[in-house]
Amino acid sequence: MTVPVFQNFVHGQFLANQSGEKFAVKNPATDQVIYEVEVADEVVQKAAIESAKQGFQVWSAMSPIERSRILHKAVALLRERNDQLAEIEVLDTGKPWQEAECVDVQTGADVIEYFAGLAPTQVGSQQPVGNDFFYTRKEPLGICAGIGAWNYPLQIACWKSGPALAAGNVLIFKPSEETPLGAIKLAEIFIEAGVPAGVFNVVQGAAKVGQWLTTHPQIEKVSFTGEVGTGKKVMQSAASNLKEVTMELGGKSPLIVFEDADLSQAVSAAMLGNFYTQGEVCTNCTRVFVHRSVYQPFLDELLERTEHNIIAGDPMDPSVNLGALISKQHQQLVLDYIEKGIAEGAKVLTGGRALSPESAPNGYFVAPTIFVDCDDDMTIVKEEIFGPVMSVLVFDDEQEVIERANNTHLGLAAGVFTQNIKRAHRVIHQLAAGICWINSYGNSPAEMPVGGYKQSGIGRENGIETLDQYTQTKSVYVGMSDIESPF
Ligand code: NAD
Repeated sequence: MTVPVFQNFVHGQFLANQSGEKFAVKNPATDQVIYEVEVADEVVQKAAIESAKQGFQVWSAMSPIERSRILHKAVALLRERNDQLAEIEVLDTGKPWQEAECVDVQTGADVIEYFAGLAPTQVGSQQPVGNDFFYTRKEPLGICAGIGAWNYPLQIACWKSGPALAAGNVLIFKPSEETPLGAIKLAEIFIEAGVPAGVFNVVQGAAKVGQWLTTHPQIEKVSFTGEVGTGKKVMQSAASNLKEVTMELGGKSPLIVFEDADLSQAVSAAMLGNFYTQGEVCTNCTRVFVHRSVYQPFLDELLERTEHNIIAGDPMDPSVNLGALISKQHQQLVLDYIEKGIAEGAKVLTGGRALSPESAPNGYFVAPTIFVDCDDDMTIVKEEIFGPVMSVLVFDDEQEVIERANNTHLGLAAGVFTQNIKRAHRVIHQLAAGICWINSYGNSPAEMPVGGYKQSGIGRENGIETLDQYTQTKSVYVGMSDIESPF
């Protein structure tokens, strides 16, 4: 069967490569190749840079309000095409339609809308110095690169392009080679909305194309979303010309359930933070610490709801709420972690195996898995698994649980469930994590800055401060009196 072939998207149109190199993309729920994509070879790479330079000339010369107006049009198109784009995300990622339909496109559009609104608010300052004065200008950085992960492909492309473009930069975006189509659709939407050619180019490929972006001397910043190990490599290459970096990396986040918590709410949070998007969410609370006095009732409800309320199957079926993992290889990696958990003495309360649902028998599914009898030194408790695998741990004391929660090199997110308002804030303030929730888990509105402590990241996405991270300050000193020269 022949499948469609997508080329790179450069300067407002598709551009053929000369090497002929392509890669295939499979639907994780069917194991079938659904399309192929051309790799960005040297010809495409060169064209992408030339186009970005031209795009920058035009885009950075526009007033912020003009840029804002155009970006708002793109937002409207994203919302208009919600279902079409959501379907692409389902076919590429294997995630359930019921999620993609209301989250992926909308949270992407929200962020572009937010930064489009902020664009005209960026102001410099002015200050007298004796008779002279100086003023500052917020100027764009120039050509930026975005490199995305595969779990929220379109959302990531929007979260990086929104602030970059709003501040007057141009972006060359490389989506994950597992999920390359959403970014192309976004590029088409930008062009349709009136974003000039060259402002948002999409280059395709895996690590090699990523490395090219991170070492290119004319790229001023790289915003990366992916694994901690890859992030370190990206930072190393970005040092070649001292690029600015934003790093959105992995996590092993704690959820702490105190004895006075609303237990049903805490169970909801634990399930959302482990099984939503079949566990492939960076902020997941994969270490669930439960106070000993409520451990058993918490587990009883968790088990009951996990065994009765989760429906795995064809992700396009609106009743399905557990999709397929991104690839066969990733499914195996998750199953290997489960084996390791068992070998190290943890007990599987439920799940712990691959699934082959009737409506999607060849998909890469893993049953929602809950481990109990865990201790802090187990591999499953220490390493990011990125699948539907939750480890439940028992604690007795507030200070003890804070120390245990912080005992990791990662620090992306954390959650606390308690009715005690003082304890909620006291504990959260002591947790080394960038994104925290009290009596809630997972919501990430455009207005709220998100990013990691420790090895979970550098810089932030969303929120006002992110716009600043896409600008540089120019100070202009203006002499009003004669220069006093000793020469
Ligand atoms: P990954 O690190 O394998 O790949 C991410 C991207 O980097 C891909 O586009 C890949 O092609 C590219 N890449 C690979 N090697 C490269 C190199 N040497 N130089 C430049 N680019 C390179 O990550 P993944 O498996 O796609 O995504 C899962 C990871 O992403 C998880 O660890 C997850 O926690 C993390 N993540 C973090 C956030 C966040 O906001 N903090 C959000 C989503 C995912």
